[in-house]
Amino acid sequence: MQGVIVNGSDEVTGDAVILGVGHSARDIYYLLREHNIKMEPKEFAMGVRIEHPQPLINEIQYHSTEYSELPPASYNLSCQVGGRGVYSFCMCPGGIIIPASTAPDELVINGMSYSKRNSRYANSGFVVTVNEKDMDKYIDHYPLNGLKFQQEYEKIVYGNSNSSQSAPAQRMTDFVDGILSSSLPGTSYIPGVISAPLHEILPSFIGDNLREAFRVIDKKVRGYFTSEALILAGESRTSSPVRILRDPETFMHPEISGFFPAGEGAGFAGGIVSTGVDGENCAKAAARYILA
Ligand SMILES: Cc1cc2nc3c(=O)[nH]c(=O)nc-3n(C[C@H](O)[C@H](O)[C@H](O)COP(=O)(O)OP(=O)(O)OC[C@H]3O[C@@H](n4cnc5c(N)ncnc54)[C@H](O)[C@@H]3O)c2cc1C
Repeated sequence: MQGVIVNGSDEVTGDAVILGVGHSARDIYYLLREHNIKMEPKEFAMGVRIEHPQPLINEIQYHSTEYSELPPASYNLSCQVGGRGVYSFCMCPGGIIIPASTAPDELVINGMSYSKRNSRYANSGFVVTVNEKDMDKYIDHYPLNGLKFQQEYEKIVYGNSNSSQSAPAQRMTDFVDGILSSSLPGTSYIPGVISAPLHEILPSFIGDNLREAFRVIDKKVRGYFTSEALILAGESRTSSPVRILRDPETFMHPEISGFFPAGEGAGFAGGIVSTGVDGENCAKAAARYILA
């Protein structure tokens, strides 16, 4: 019999527990660690969000200024820099950048499109792979060392936001040239932007690899690297920085019978579809366990 205590008081018991709290439920990761429930750090990615005028992306992608019958164009860019993946993530054509922080002294942004995709802007995350070695500085927090690094990144970004949800930002070209932007282009991000030297603020492996990636991409996708594009910090919640251990056959935690870590927060999915599939697999595995 498994039990879950809700709001610190009501206990709900059952034959199995599926844990699907998403990758931002940090309190749950700490709770699991407190109870010595085995987890491990997992590679993830962090970086910035980039916003271009949507017409500029349309012209790049459609190779024409005549595209009025076509949907707002999207893109998917990636390259390897210094052995690391640097890639666009969650591109939102005709979309907006939104605040996504989960604590008062941290700043996180994300992107979305409404169904009409009719904003004047195109935004996308642009992120660098964070590997286990990058998390070494926070090894005292094992297995939550990646989470700690992610949290510190969000605090650094907040520290450069005048203690508000306004995002520190820089023109793309100024970021690469290492110059503070004297003016910033318009943005869809409603809390607004503050000119900041992101080339100095970001952890060096993130900033350096992004700069190099933009130089590489400039050669492949003419027009993408432009002073009209705005870089906003920070994109940090791409996927879970932690994996809750799970047996590949039974989908159960190897040490706790009847406990099924599921979805993005468990570190076995990223995005809506893979999370849905993982949830279905876990539900079937739980049913098999209960009926056995
Ligand atoms: C702005 C934005 C845009 C996105 N756009 C896309 C997209 O276009 N395509 C795509 O594939 N993916 C997108 N994603 C990612 C996608 O939303 C996630 O991959 C997916 O929702 C993960 O599903 P999940 O069930 O694992 O976690 P979640 O959807 O995060 O669900 C976890 C649930 O657990 C609840 N919870 C947390 N802690 C507790 C607790 N202690 N007790 C009870 N309940 C708790 C949360 O409130 C939440 O309802 C986007 C994400 C964001 C934030």
